[in-house]
Amino acid sequence: MRKKIVAGNWKMNNDLAETEMFLVELKKQVFPENVTIMIAPPFTSLNHAFNSLREHPVTVASQNMHQSNEGAFTGEISAKMLKSIGANTVILGHSERRAYFMEDNATLAEKVNTALENEMTIIFCIGEELEDRRNNTHFEIIKTQLSEGLFHTSNKAWESVIIAYEPVWAIGTGETASPEQAQEMHHFIRKTIAENYSEEIADGVSILYGGSVKPDNATEIFKQPDVDGGLIGGASLKVASFMEIVNAFY
Ligand code: 13P
Repeated sequence: MRKKIVAGNWKMNNDLAETEMFLVELKKQVFPENVTIMIAPPFTSLNHAFNSLREHPVTVASQNMHQSNEGAFTGEISAKMLKSIGANTVILGHSERRAYFMEDNATLAEKVNTALENEMTIIFCIGEELEDRRNNTHFEIIKTQLSEGLFHTSNKAWESVIIAYEPVWAIGTGETASPEQAQEMHHFIRKTIAENYSEEIADGVSILYGGSVKPDNATEIFKQPDVDGGLIGGASLKVASFMEIVNAFY
């Protein structure tokens, strides 16, 4: 059985006081046993969130990390630093990192290697732009992102990889992919993994959908057979809407 996962990507939101308010509220919640819950706060809140959630079944993930283990990279954070505060999961290749911080597939392949060497779990984000979908090149784009960023890894690596399909045109726009569009692409992703690795590996990978997931559309999206959960931006910033999405699996 594939893991069902709901992960909140806070992006550049929530300072320490706001994080604390979120955590106080989150810790009052009853968590469903069949859903893995993750939050990815900004670096300044990671340590606090990890310590605060020690006794709770919530994974604290980083939104990014550098591909080198250490060195003269002002402003960057390494895998070792993340692990030292208990963050064993990292989001890599978010479309905002790709678009605004020039992260290309080759850089992401290096980040993937570093994360795996450091025994971290990776949420690897892929997604096409509106232009790609209009030109009907969206499948090709996704295939390239997978093959150049991820498909150099061993079979074993897939024990530590989660995929997040986030069409760029649906992120923060209020325009979500239809459940059918999400299913179609998730199925394509799984098929592509099967072709490059095996059916067994493809069947075991959790593929999350991201892009304007809200409490009122989560159930329909999560019902799709190849959708194993969501990577949530805006709606993950408030505990009430985040938990509604977590509970949308029922
Ligand atoms: P929104 O849910 O705000 O559209 O963001 C999605 C996202 O980018 C999560 O990583």
